[in-house]
Amino acid sequence: AMDLRGKAAIVTGGANGIGKAIVDALLDCGAQVTVVDMAPVTEESTENMLYVQADVSNSEQVEAMVERTVNHFGRVDILVNNAGISTMDYFVDIKEADWDKTMDVNAKGVYLCTQAVAKVLQAQGEGGKIINLASQAGKNGYRLMGSYVASKHAVLGMTKVAAIELAKDQINVNAVCPGIVETTMKHTEREIGGRLRGLEAEDIRQEDNHQIPLGRTAVPQDIAHVVIFLASTYSDYMTGQGINVTGGMTMN
Ligand code: NAD
Repeated sequence: AMDLRGKAAIVTGGANGIGKAIVDALLDCGAQVTVVDMAPVTEESTENMLYVQADVSNSEQVEAMVERTVNHFGRVDILVNNAGISTMDYFVDIKEADWDKTMDVNAKGVYLCTQAVAKVLQAQGEGGKIINLASQAGKNGYRLMGSYVASKHAVLGMTKVAAIELAKDQINVNAVCPGIVETTMKHTEREIGGRLRGLEAEDIRQEDNHQIPLGRTAVPQDIAHVVIFLASTYSDYMTGQGINVTGGMTMN
């Protein structure tokens, strides 16, 4: 494991799926971690882990979450903007409420958390790492995913602007673009997508596998390992990038 001892990290959406794998990987590397999620608190906070219930699209809750992190760990070094949701429909049928919800969590959430944490990083004056969970849907279009695709293109746009503006403070801002990862989100997408397309979820799973050169979908750890690289000194000369972790499904 990389050595991240002495570093404090914030992982949004850290209670499940990819976020949980990132939390575990950061703890393995010796970092201290604030786990931020909408899901209610189930675990007690410890010396190395602080659990904060917050909605990333609510600015007051985001500011309180960052303040609690600084009070608990005395600092922040790493932010992983992982919280995200997907809503699905044919573009002509997208509901306004679904559009708003998707943009609020996936795009506004990244903006609010990045702004709140970047101010702390700038004040500390010791650099930092911001890692955004975008998606291959931030680079290409996928049927039924209009609002999600738009929100992930926004994440890559913010990644580039924040990277340019925060470079003078030695704060690296990069994005990871996963392909198809086996989580609750993906399983729900296959069910809804199946219903809308008149297919079984299993048919879509097979279709997914056929599109991946490495021949399998990802497990959350496949994504977490690349996030750890971007949180470490090994990526000090990288900023503003969107790194595909797709088993070769996306190459642009
Ligand atoms: P998931 O649904 O399994 O977990 C997401 C977590 O985020 C949940 O714990 C949820 O409670 C939390 N969350 C949702 N809204 C929140 C909010 N407003 N504030 C705080 N927490 C909130 O999803 P996942 O598959 O692990 O996805 C994680 C990230 O990776 C997302 O940004 C997603 O878009 C991205 N991604 C996933 C895939 C995939 O195939 N699973 C592919 C590409 C990108």
